[in-house]
Amino acid sequence: MFKIDGKKTAATLREKLKKKISELKSTYKAIPGLTVILVGEDPASKIYVKNKEKFANEVGIKSEIVRYPNTIEEKTVLNKIKELNEDSNVSGILIQLPLPKHIDKRKIIEAILPDKDVDGFHPVNVGNLSSGYDSMIPCTPLGCYLLIKDIEKDLNGKHAVIIGRSNLNGKPMAQLLLKENCTVTITHSKTKDLRTECKRADIIIAAVGRPKLVRGDWVKKDAIVIDVGINKTDSGLVGDVDFDEVSKVAKAVSPVPGGVGPMTIACLLSNTVECFKKTRSN
Ligand code: NAP
Repeated sequence: MFKIDGKKTAATLREKLKKKISELKSTYKAIPGLTVILVGEDPASKIYVKNKEKFANEVGIKSEIVRYPNTIEEKTVLNKIKELNEDSNVSGILIQLPLPKHIDKRKIIEAILPDKDVDGFHPVNVGNLSSGYDSMIPCTPLGCYLLIKDIEKDLNGKHAVIIGRSNLNGKPMAQLLLKENCTVTITHSKTKDLRTECKRADIIIAAVGRPKLVRGDWVKKDAIVIDVGINKTDSGLVGDVDFDEVSKVAKAVSPVPGGVGPMTIACLLSNTVECFKKTRSN
């Protein structure tokens, strides 16, 4: 078994982006810009946003954080998005989720221009992805996909089992793997006999939010196991996969931390560059 090194793969991707951005700079006399809108004081969101800013600056993306208090009116956020949509220095707009209850998440996401939607959550991007057209792809599934492709170039006919059907993770992950000719099974909380489903998989992607749900005896020998979960427990941060057990049977397992997390941020930067290219070619 080998431990998938998400930190290393993410660092390699960032290096490539740094080079690409410097080329774009000389071609367009401009650099990609990422604006993150952060509403409220959620401590985890604050850390995520800080990390995004740090890595964005490192690769040469101009990053800006717009901070609003928890009590901000929805209208103010919508007006800000309108302003950012029209600003040619802003290539990508990210709304840090979750939003306070009084703000309609759907309205906010739909207000972002699809070509500036770095998270790939806008219905136009969701539709394009599921139709197999060019689209912005949500960062976490994109990161998982790149980790899988790093291990196995040809995914033709592989059986992938995805645990979790969220719009953020499970559903876009399924689309990416279908495009690679995988046979995809999406499972969820109402799935009967999850263990049997997983046991048939060549690739398992766990995006659930249940500590160590996937056990060693759920996994086929030499399967690839990608752990998206982030769970705070008394013994620290753990994923949705029992790493110690699963690593005894799988070909490759991604750890938590150090697996999917760093790839999510690297893919956000990559998506910002994609948005820059889209807005320049229009
Ligand atoms: P979510 O929206 O809560 O979705 C969880 C999914 O898991 C749902 O589809 C749910 O089924 C399913 N589920 C829950 N319990 C289950 C069980 N016992 N057996 C099978 N399926 C079950 O979560 P999410 O936003 O996709 O996030 C999932 C995890 O990934 C969380 O731990 C989150 O913190 C982490 N995450 C990590 C990153 C990263 O960068 N590493 C990024 C985003 C999220 P139903 O649909 O039936 O309710």
